[in-house]
Amino acid sequence: MVSPAVMPTYARVDVAFTKGEGAYLWDDQGRRYLDFATGIAVVCLGHSHPHLVAEVQRQAGELMHVSNLYRIPGQERLAERLCENSFADVVFFGNSGAEANECAIKMARKYHHVNGHPERYRVITFENAFHGRTLATMAATGQAKILDGFGPKVEGFDHVPFDDLDAVRAAVTNETAAILVEPVQGEGGINILPDGMLEGLRAICDEHGLLLILDEVQSGMGRTGKLLAHEWTGAKPDIVTLAKALGGGMPIGACMATSEAAKGMVAGSHGSTYGGNPMVVAAGNAVLDVLLEEGFMERVQELGSKLTARLEELRQRNDSIIEDIRSQGLFIGFKTKPTNMDVVNALRDEGVLTVPAGDNVVRFLPPLTIDESHIDEVIGALERVCEKLAS
Ligand SMILES: *Cc1c(COP(=O)(O)O)cnc(C)c1O
Repeated sequence: MVSPAVMPTYARVDVAFTKGEGAYLWDDQGRRYLDFATGIAVVCLGHSHPHLVAEVQRQAGELMHVSNLYRIPGQERLAERLCENSFADVVFFGNSGAEANECAIKMARKYHHVNGHPERYRVITFENAFHGRTLATMAATGQAKILDGFGPKVEGFDHVPFDDLDAVRAAVTNETAAILVEPVQGEGGINILPDGMLEGLRAICDEHGLLLILDEVQSGMGRTGKLLAHEWTGAKPDIVTLAKALGGGMPIGACMATSEAAKGMVAGSHGSTYGGNPMVVAAGNAVLDVLLEEGFMERVQELGSKLTARLEELRQRNDSIIEDIRSQGLFIGFKTKPTNMDVVNALRDEGVLTVPAGDNVVRFLPPLTIDESHIDEVIGALERVCEKLAS
């Protein structure tokens, strides 16, 4: 059982893993699991990836931490590489997704402040979103189950339906600063923005002088088969937040922006003691080394298509269990007819780890480095689970 000394804020499964290699984890009883949870879309290179391990070990032996009072060459290198491979001109590093979003929200407010419009501080966000657990990001998330009991919520977030441009237009006021949206909602159930929606949001932002902030904490870093999920669309953001897979398992978050959007962020306006320290940026650079290899994203797209096609076949044979499938690259969810937790638990009994999401969805978040044998294995396990749950 979990020690009572740990604050009981999680409904933990009574399994403790002691070793990981590639797509597999081993628990303290020596049982092996296929990891399609990856620490919630974090372990993008699989466990103990030799290059990531070598870079982190090397850095730990050289220098762990100095603070942002001084230059950090690895941080400069990671920022430059993220900018070279995206829309962004500048990057701020923090330690988590919530902090990356906090930076984005502060940046949007500051942008309008320095433009002479301090009254523009409100952010339009979406139903079933997830942006984090700090006071501001839980207000951005907006769900009662996350907000209840924690006193007055941080002011300035207006929620609209995920797929309704007219509702967005109607929500814009002369106090609106930005629109904050996940291109693919992760916690909400792998909900992909409808075609044209992101371009529509961009147009609304242009019309009203708003900043378009994309929360790519879960969808970013290759999960969808592009470095950033919005690259599947024609829309250019002003700000993008990253975390989860950015460090492949080391805690790092990033808020990327155009220099225009970031123009209010000057010395003293934001900070983080650990943010972008030598350890975590060594991990970030190692992850990028792999993700930027020739053909890596094409392979993620190909594996994603194969896994989705196999899931669809399986769904047709088991439509009393699987209702629908949502996927982009290896960002995959399926809605189940039984409670999603029953399917997650039954898959774990079969030795496969997955993650539940909103809308009664089960998420497949495999390492981006899997091969076809892992697809065979997960489909075999899901087939057995469907048979078991149907009988
Ligand atoms: C996980 C997640 C967050 C929060 O990240 P933390 O590192 O847990 O603070 C924010 N946004 C999205 C889309 C996420 O998936």
